[in-house]
Amino acid sequence: IKIKITTIDIPVSFASAFEGEIIRKGDMQVEVDGSRKDCFELVTTRDAAEIEDHKITVDGPELDEIPVGSKISLSYIVEVAGKNMQSDFESVMERKIHSFLNCIEGVMHTGQRDMIRIRVSKADFEAGFRFRHIGEVLYAKIKSEFDTVVDKCQVKIVVDEAKNKELRAMANEVFNRRDDRLRSMTDESVPVFYTCIMCQAFSPSHVCIVTPERLGLCGAVSWLDAKATNELDPQGPCQVVPKEHCIDERLGRYEDVDEAVQKYSHGALEHVTLYSLFQDPMTSCGCFECICGVEPVSMGVVITMREYAGMTPLGMTFSEMASMTGGGVQTPGFMGHGKHFIASKKFIAAEGGLGRIVWLPKELKEQMRDKLNEAAKELYDVDNFADMIADETICTEDPEELLNYLTEVGHPVLSMEPFDM
Ligand code: SF4
Ligand code: ZN
Repeated sequence: IKIKITTIDIPVSFASAFEGEIIRKGDMQVEVDGSRKDCFELVTTRDAAEIEDHKITVDGPELDEIPVGSKISLSYIVEVAGKNMQSDFESVMERKIHSFLNCIEGVMHTGQRDMIRIRVSKADFEAGFRFRHIGEVLYAKIKSEFDTVVDKCQVKIVVDEAKNKELRAMANEVFNRRDDRLRSMTDESVPVFYTCIMCQAFSPSHVCIVTPERLGLCGAVSWLDAKATNELDPQGPCQVVPKEHCIDERLGRYEDVDEAVQKYSHGALEHVTLYSLFQDPMTSCGCFECICGVEPVSMGVVITMREYAGMTPLGMTFSEMASMTGGGVQTPGFMGHGKHFIASKKFIAAEGGLGRIVWLPKELKEQMRDKLNEAAKELYDVDNFADMIADETICTEDPEELLNYLTEVGHPVLSMEPFDM
């Protein structure tokens, strides 16, 4: 017999109304700061015998032993067991932590994996909120939302820099293994794709088609995640898209994909291709990590990301480019996408692929450097491709300056055909 958990044992309110709440610096008791300290969140599967259901441990100082305003190292591992549990479900559960913790009044959570930031407000501290209550929330939500697969759950919170340094290395191995498993898959090697319509709450006609080589534009839903989401909730946001009727391999145009977008956009969309920026590109909701836009002087594309507020050679910032394409509409030449799609061999493959990328914010270029170089070597036999891509330290507003740079370094875009716009 499974008991559904309805109340969560914490001293502050818990409701989805608190999800957008911002905790300002002056109001925070403490900040878990993944950008400077070793922090992470992880859901992992164990044998039932290794888990004591509802056990919550805090290894290290509690909130009342930490000076107000501190930026600290903290990690939590949610250990689950269940006879229907699969390790592919772990990352789907992990992605929900963001929403679980944000539902706590006075707590703000951003990021994922080992790049998390959590603020706990002074008001919460005064009300008696402690780290162990994070464990209470995680326990209650994981048990109730995933009751079909989780029989037992325990949460280990660690507040100790030295221990978290070691634990983080272990967690990164887990994250890498998951990424490697996905990297070995191609769009051709799988029998089906998936829809994701999680964003229809605020973008009613938007449908992501998620494939192994094209993750959801939010960056948080890989093909494996979509598959797991479908298995966990067969009537849920991720539905199977068969791929039996390919119309155009180069564009990634499938009868089945068109049918799926028509159905799940409620008729707002008729055709979507998987690999083209110009021919019926995929729509964008509002939460794309990156956006790419055509740069007509070089016949390349400029990509910028949410974290980069500066100008691009298109004469537009991220938010200006975002206003060209959000809200579930198709704007040929502009497209929202996930960070990792940049180094995918399917990235605008119909227009020649990632060799079209002429400009990236430096930070994004560094994050993607190795993967970009590897993919460009394979696709074009070009070495050190990342160095050929301009960034804000090379040029921002002037497309002529950009073209000069591309010529100087011998960028592959210069030998590609003009866009067929
Ligand atoms: Fe799903 Fe796409 Fe929204 Fe990500 S952006 S949650 S993949 S609909
Ligand atoms: Zn979205």
